[in-house]
Amino acid sequence: MERAKRMRVVVVGAGIVGAAVARELARAGVDVIVLDRSASAGGTSAAGEGNLLVSDKGPGPELDLALRSLTLWREFRPESPLPIEYEAKGGLVVATTEAGATALRAFAATQRTAGVEASEVNGLDHEPDLNPGHAAAILYPQDAQVQPAIATEALLADARRHGAQVRQGVEVLSSLRGGGVVTSDGPLAADHVVVAAGPWSGEVSERLGVTLPVRPRRGTILVTTRMRQRIRHKVYDADYVGAVGSNDASLQTSSVVESTAAGTVLIGSSRERRGFDETIEARVLSAVAAKALVLFPFLEGVAVMRAYGGFRPFVPDHLPVIGPDHRLPGLWHATGHEGAGIVLSTATAELLADLMLNRPPHLDAAAFAVDRPTLLPHLGNP
Ligand SMILES: Cc1cc2nc3c(=O)[nH]c(=O)nc-3n(C[C@H](O)[C@H](O)[C@H](O)COP(=O)(O)OP(=O)(O)OC[C@H]3O[C@@H](n4cnc5c(N)ncnc54)[C@H](O)[C@@H]3O)c2cc1C
Repeated sequence: MERAKRMRVVVVGAGIVGAAVARELARAGVDVIVLDRSASAGGTSAAGEGNLLVSDKGPGPELDLALRSLTLWREFRPESPLPIEYEAKGGLVVATTEAGATALRAFAATQRTAGVEASEVNGLDHEPDLNPGHAAAILYPQDAQVQPAIATEALLADARRHGAQVRQGVEVLSSLRGGGVVTSDGPLAADHVVVAAGPWSGEVSERLGVTLPVRPRRGTILVTTRMRQRIRHKVYDADYVGAVGSNDASLQTSSVVESTAAGTVLIGSSRERRGFDETIEARVLSAVAAKALVLFPFLEGVAVMRAYGGFRPFVPDHLPVIGPDHRLPGLWHATGHEGAGIVLSTATAELLADLMLNRPPHLDAAAFAVDRPTLLPHLGNP
């Protein structure tokens, strides 16, 4: 008897989102081929931090996606032995002014109504080296951390174990008539194509025939040399939430400080929309460092080892795009996660697979649809 033909899906992009999608679909029995024009984890997924945060999200669909994602991260047991450095260390959000403290308390109260654990604490009990002059501190025990490049490789390794192919150095050039893509290696037929090309998703979508308003939002991070662990949580100033939600293209900085398993401290980060300009500038680094010193004055004497940066996949309404594209049958998106793609990758993959495989979705997909009202004005073509 002839065996039923397996559904074939091409995933464009081997960053953490493409890797999570590939794993989810491959585990469900789909024939998956991941294409990346460079190397796996060669884009934004290796150019940021690995914060898995609910603390910076207000009630709404992104928070729902983050809460589900955190559950999936907690349950994630890679089949390969790769050490993804998952740490459920919790977040501490610190207000440095009285006005900031009032806003932070109000924000935490709204989050609690949506299932976020948030309690006001004495910051020094949790971070003894914190600036004692801070005005308020809220502890978020659900926040966690992962090493994003290794996590990407672990997701891809699992996908491979379930039959997925990962082809590096293969660029997607255009769509293939009848379904699939034309690549630098030739045509590749598929039932579905998933764009998971991070900040390049706008360009890839254009090549495939549709407009998608994903643009790069630059971020730069400082890395200290290794030291005795003096920072126990993800610690950030309450201004961070405003910077994340802003549409301003000009430079914004807020401090996010965390230590890594290797003993270095990551000091982030900036946000600026200036295309794919990779220059690392002193004006950005000094602004990032100055804010971190307000939180942890001891960092003043610490040696900086290097700085690096990446491009967050920015979408004008600050929500990822997950699901089928109504304009082109067979085309799907899993992109636009801006500064939260590491955390959101797991539930994004689950939701996309739910929709593609007609499983009951774990979350309401409408808020992430390409044709949602807040994104429609940005989709040039009908
Ligand atoms: C400074 C900074 C800090 C961050 N901190 C955090 C954090 O703490 N927590 C968090 O959750 N998120 C964070 N982020 C955001 C997070 O890194 C991104 O949202 C996430 O990495 C996006 O993953 P992705 O798989 O969509 O894209 P990427 O990792 O960029 O992968 C896209 C891939 O597509 C490939 N590609 C592009 N065009 C083509 C083509 N034509 N053909 C084939 N392949 C193609 C690229 O080579 C690339 O490998 C941060 C980002 C930055 C910049």
